[in-house]
Amino acid sequence: MRYAPSDLPVFTLTTGPVDAYPAVLRGLAATVLYDYDPAFQATYQRVTEKLAGMVKSETMPVLLQGEPVLGLEAAAVSLIGRDDVVLNLVSGVYSKGFAPWAARSGAEIVELAVPYNEVIDPAAVARALAARPDVTVVALCHHDTPSGTINPVAEIGAVVKAHGALFLVDAVSSFGGMKVDAESAAIDLLVTGPNKCLGCPPGLTILGVSNRAWAKMKANPQAPRASILSILDWEDAWRADQPFPFTPSVAEINGLEAAIDLYLAEGAEKVWARHALTARACRAGLKAMGLAIWPADESFASPTATAVRTPDGIDEAELRAQVRARYGVVLSSGRGETLGRLTRIGHMGPTAQPLYAVVALTALGGALGALGHGVDVGAGAAAALAVIDAG
Ligand SMILES: *Cc1c(COP(=O)(O)O)cnc(C)c1O
Repeated sequence: MRYAPSDLPVFTLTTGPVDAYPAVLRGLAATVLYDYDPAFQATYQRVTEKLAGMVKSETMPVLLQGEPVLGLEAAAVSLIGRDDVVLNLVSGVYSKGFAPWAARSGAEIVELAVPYNEVIDPAAVARALAARPDVTVVALCHHDTPSGTINPVAEIGAVVKAHGALFLVDAVSSFGGMKVDAESAAIDLLVTGPNKCLGCPPGLTILGVSNRAWAKMKANPQAPRASILSILDWEDAWRADQPFPFTPSVAEINGLEAAIDLYLAEGAEKVWARHALTARACRAGLKAMGLAIWPADESFASPTATAVRTPDGIDEAELRAQVRARYGVVLSSGRGETLGRLTRIGHMGPTAQPLYAVVALTALGGALGALGHGVDVGAGAAAALAVIDAG
């Protein structure tokens, strides 16, 4: 044991890393096979094939051996060359943070930005593309997690497709918790990972790649090869009869398969409904306690994380410290521009259980009371329960 039991939180209701599913932990503890053992090669192919049905990309998904920031950097430097013009759609901290990777090749970056409590309007994307017909790549963060906002990815995807540019999407914190896939949103390079809504620890990237994106990467002389950042090197690695460029993360693959099996056994629609219901219950409870969500409109509030605006006069770090110390509940802070201005309650994978909304609401309400900002915790719990009972 690394931690004394008294040091452990009772509930980790964060926006990732999440407290992994017990079945995933058992998967991680499976025998670590030699990567060229036929049994592991078969596992690797099987995991990729299962993922293909979830990612719905034109070609087999690619796994990279590092948590999804590796995947975002790899996607940027593989897809984007110096002759590209990139339209970066900025609605929050992650989408803004994509620009330096996109710019590394020397490409020109055009930014379309909205305030970090708003989302990107597909019509504005159409106007931006009409103004810059030379845009070749459009980048979007589907769920900009530090804001808890969901961009209309399918509508934007349709606009990008009509323009003819390649569409690169960070779907790290939405994938597995709501509908998002390469096919329905016309995504050429979908970047995600198992460490948010699939309930795994951080350690892998999942990529969905279109035929056009492969062609573009192969034609890009700047795309990394023989590098931890290489996507190209892994194109055929999913096949049991093909070599790996280097040793894959054997234990993580076993954990991922356990997560996928849970997801498929429950059924995607049910998993998404569980996330959505948890978030709805959470928002109803917050409203009943007189607290405001960070998104400017509830219609684009995330089903996988709820961002709560910090009441005036409250120190957000102290609030989370009180939530942890009093009740053993861990919540997430904002990031960058949203740091100190909101608290995030994750509803991801194992914690996308409606009653956890009540746990988060009561802990948050109790801590606010302790800091002199009394709220009606009972009303919050009752409002959340009413949503849960209505299903
Ligand atoms: C979590 C997350 C990532 C991966 O970054 P971390 O290092 O795990 O924070 C990338 N994009 C988004 C939108 C995320 O939520």
